[in-house]
Amino acid sequence: MAAGVCGPAPLVFRLHEGAPELVREVLLERGWEEYDEQGQEEGDWNLYWRTSAFHNSDYENILPWQRLNHHPKTVGITRKDCLARNLKRMRGTFGSGLYNFSPTTFILPNDYTRFLAEYTKHRLKNGGRSGYWICKPVDLSRGRGIFIFEDIRDLVYDSSVIVQRYISNPLLISGYKFDLRIYVCVKSFQPLTIYMHQEGLVRFATEKYNLTSLDNIYSHLTNTSINKFSPFYTTDKERVGQGCKWTMSKFRCFLHSQGINELFLWQKINNIVTLTLLTIAPSVPSSPNSVELFGFDILIDAKYKPWLLEVNYSPALTIDCQVDVTVKKVLLNDLVDLMNYKSMDSVRQRGYLKQKYKRPCYLGSQSLQSPVLLLPKSMCEHHPANKKSHSIHSTFSDSMRYFPSVEMNRIRSARNSISNTKGSALNPILIPHSKTAAVTGNRKTHPVLSQMTEAIQWSEVTDIESEFDDRNLSTLVSPWQASRQPAGGCCKLPAIHIQKYKTPKFPWDPKSQDKSTPPLRVGDFILTFPFNEVTLKASWDKLNVKTAVHEVHKLISQLASGCSHKQKRGRDNELDRCKEKKDFGYLFWGPTNPPLLSECHLSN
Ligand code: ADP
Repeated sequence: MAAGVCGPAPLVFRLHEGAPELVREVLLERGWEEYDEQGQEEGDWNLYWRTSAFHNSDYENILPWQRLNHHPKTVGITRKDCLARNLKRMRGTFGSGLYNFSPTTFILPNDYTRFLAEYTKHRLKNGGRSGYWICKPVDLSRGRGIFIFEDIRDLVYDSSVIVQRYISNPLLISGYKFDLRIYVCVKSFQPLTIYMHQEGLVRFATEKYNLTSLDNIYSHLTNTSINKFSPFYTTDKERVGQGCKWTMSKFRCFLHSQGINELFLWQKINNIVTLTLLTIAPSVPSSPNSVELFGFDILIDAKYKPWLLEVNYSPALTIDCQVDVTVKKVLLNDLVDLMNYKSMDSVRQRGYLKQKYKRPCYLGSQSLQSPVLLLPKSMCEHHPANKKSHSIHSTFSDSMRYFPSVEMNRIRSARNSISNTKGSALNPILIPHSKTAAVTGNRKTHPVLSQMTEAIQWSEVTDIESEFDDRNLSTLVSPWQASRQPAGGCCKLPAIHIQKYKTPKFPWDPKSQDKSTPPLRVGDFILTFPFNEVTLKASWDKLNVKTAVHEVHKLISQLASGCSHKQKRGRDNELDRCKEKKDFGYLFWGPTNPPLLSECHLSN
């Protein structure tokens, strides 16, 4: 639909074939409209959602008001063999003491000899027993093709696979194995900006863990895609309940009830996420109009050590049960809030024609040297067969084929000839305002956090002129947001950050505060990187991986020493230490006194 003359039009989403139905549902609830391939112009969508990867041209042709749900070139962590290779490289550079969160892995057939050596070494050491191994096809998901073995004679494969040390002592709840699905949004790779969602999923196996039946997938694999077909899926399983999922809130309650320092565990997972993303961050081209939602699968062993199993590209957004609704709807809404649409985005090119640009949308390796950005060719070249392109083309002159950098006066004057702005603000496109719908939404955010978030300008964007001012933003806040409950609400848990905080000071030195500081929280997404001033600086310009890793290392050491004090006392000390040091890690760690399990409604 073309932008209305009198005010902002609805934002428009475009779903590629196979995109999750939940995305459609959530966006429609927010008042968005679905893109109509036939009736609308190519530039007339705001969000393009694909489950598979975009083409390079999609990134090159992106327009200021548009967002994509993937960054380019993240396969380095989302394919099992690439992840193994990259983690190995990081271990080589930074030591296996730090990068010790992934089970020993071999990529077969290439690493067969090395695997054989390791296997034999274990057998000799352990009186003929090699321990347990798991074999996984490198490019399959949902548990397909996976098997566990002890004897190398059972290792049979006909495609590229990884063979990984099987974590045979997982933490169990009433005898059931589980893993955690952690949702992570990389808002930007340049600068690296990572958010972790406070909610998430705990995915249970549906038969009790038993090492004497390695081929029982319902006992050893925790994929929902497998366990929903288990004969025990609907059975009310001791403590676990029916189905095979919990919310993360419920899990945290459970840990708390067991006297476990769940926030310490959470922080360790947080470090795993950061260290993993640092392996690819320098090689991902800048694409400020993209966000990416990753699903990190974490297994916790009986000693409470979290292990990274894999990183999922396009984590499942299907709805199998009420827990999915609780977690994934909030997650998606928060993700859209992180995309930070501005009122001007809803009027698309009409709004942007009134603006001047000072940075490009996409900085692929080539355009890194170039100060300009390609507009879609379709918007600039005459395609007689393509009337849609032509109509947009007639709006932008040929001289606007590139978005200008600030200094490109030539193009600026071309723009002035077709736009009718007050000529006031340079208003680039991409890195959005802090006035996200999340901030304006009616969520139970800790007041201090929301003040902080509002105080932070996360953008190079200057205010835009009155026609598209933020008063119009209210039209972008959906009824859903107005009525939404905190993520924990559905299982009657408080949001993790409510209550108990004394008013902290702003964690940055105000003098050094600049507009590049990302919001600490958007909905239930909590900023986890950068996490202090040093990492903030390290993330700008060219990411300084060494410094970033060093800071994570320091954090881990602090945590380790903090944790040697017993439980609560240790954590309180840690919180105080962090506050003193002006780190904002403590914001992430939640209330010091989460409710007892008996106070929670645990029904799914
Ligand atoms: P997929 O992409 O097919 O889901 P995963 O690596 O996530 O592959 O493995 C599927 C399931 O197998 C996990 O959810 C977990 O329950 C189990 N699993 C995978 N790797 C290991 C491991 N190294 N140790 C123990 N369990 C594992």
